[in-house]
Amino acid sequence: MITGSTSTTELDRPRFFIDGRWANPVGTEVYTSLEAATGEPLGRAALGSPADIDAAVTAARRALDSGPWGRSTPSERAAVMRRFAAALAKRANATSRLVSQENGMPLWLSTSFNGAAPVGALERYADWAETVLFEETRASASGATIVRREPVGVVGAITPWNYPQALAMNKIAPALAAGCTVVLKPAEITALDAYVLADAADEAGMPAGVINIVVGGRETGAALVAHPGVDTIAFTGSTAAGRLIAAECGRQIKKVTLELGGKSAGIVLDDADLDVFVGGLLAVSLRNNGQTCTASSRILAPRSRYDEVVDAVTTFAAEMRIGNPLDADTTCGPMASSGQLERVLGYIDLGLRSDARLTTGGGRPAGFDRGWFVEPTVFADVSNHDTIAREEIFGPVLVVIPYDGDDDAIAIANDSSYGLAGTVWTTDEQRGIDVARRVRTGTIGVNYYANDAGSPFGGIKASGLGRESGREAIDEYLEFKSIYVSSDYEPDQEGKAR
Ligand code: NAD
Repeated sequence: MITGSTSTTELDRPRFFIDGRWANPVGTEVYTSLEAATGEPLGRAALGSPADIDAAVTAARRALDSGPWGRSTPSERAAVMRRFAAALAKRANATSRLVSQENGMPLWLSTSFNGAAPVGALERYADWAETVLFEETRASASGATIVRREPVGVVGAITPWNYPQALAMNKIAPALAAGCTVVLKPAEITALDAYVLADAADEAGMPAGVINIVVGGRETGAALVAHPGVDTIAFTGSTAAGRLIAAECGRQIKKVTLELGGKSAGIVLDDADLDVFVGGLLAVSLRNNGQTCTASSRILAPRSRYDEVVDAVTTFAAEMRIGNPLDADTTCGPMASSGQLERVLGYIDLGLRSDARLTTGGGRPAGFDRGWFVEPTVFADVSNHDTIAREEIFGPVLVVIPYDGDDDAIAIANDSSYGLAGTVWTTDEQRGIDVARRVRTGTIGVNYYANDAGSPFGGIKASGLGRESGREAIDEYLEFKSIYVSSDYEPDQEGKAR
């Protein structure tokens, strides 16, 4: 981070989006966003102080408690959400490109996750909003009970830099469908793209205060979590930060959803077709330069085919196209920041100093003096007890661990503090599904891994609490309320909206 630089670019975002307006920051801290591939400045963004967070929460509170949003019907909200989707779609190409510059994600991938995905999420949740049973009446022993699903209230959404637009919308869209208002605190690294959401919401006629955006770092996020005006926290990020956030939410008895880290296993069964497995490696284990929470970064290989699997993974990693994320043929772009580069190199160093065998990579690639590039790296002969097999590296670094028999593979897969995702590779799909049932994670793929926007996503153990995606995500933003009526109450409109 560079503070105090005075140069300006058209990408600069010197103000926050609060109460439907661009608000000057209370503090003076400024973040200079650096292009991941070059280290050159891209633009600057103001960093939020607790006072800025307070202004944003106050606006969100007002929009919910006394603004039109708090009295809106699901259809009215859906209409705004569809306009919001259309406004984002117009910006999708520019946004995808900007994110690639900020965090190093190959543009072909960014187009999907930062361009199309948020638009699709808004459209889906707009449709689902109109099908939620917000109110029903049940006969009770002494009269009737009106069972309502009410919005939780003000949502504090905190997001990381790796899939910034998709992860922000995974929170905003179900929250809007439920009738909540939102304060979004994006990560600094992807500060510049975050405000595209405000530009689009504004154009869509989103009522003031329904979406507020204040970029900042850890302290800004902590101020949002601690704010008594926030009713629930929706967090995606590291397990370390998730623990602190959950502790504060526990202190306040505040709802929280946590999408945290992972160290998922890719289990290659002894009948696997290695061409199919290798064909999936980029998407499953090395997507976004390895900066993906669901990455199958521990490859479990049957001892009978161990050398074959190691050779296949090594060849694939060694042949990846390292390059500028804006180039169409790049399969491995740079790390998102210098800090992230240091972190990944630190783990590679740990691997080099362990009994593991480096089969490819192992440092910074030759010829890439600028930017934060790391070579795709593979370690073989790794024990599941090694630090590089236990901790999330969050870079293009894979470990290959041998196993003996399916039970052993499942035991190794489950011997992790995390429980986010995983994959099973086999020519016998039913066998793969049977193995997948026994792996303790929130999601798992058989012969591929693809996030399904129509189904719940999330982790167990140290990978998180609660679910995003699917219709189920709306439930995270609703509270039940039962109104007991002493008579045989007859509703004038069954399933009436709020
Ligand atoms: P991070 O935890 O450092 O930061 C994430 C966000 O939380 C940022 O906006 C940051 O400013 C904020 N933050 C950090 N500490 C905080 C605190 N104490 N209180 C409030 N806010 C705080 O994570 P990162 O390095 O930006 O992202 C990488 C991590 O995110 C990895 O661990 C990855 O696995 C995880 N992740 C998980 C998922 C998922 O869906 N499970 C998806 C993407 C990324």
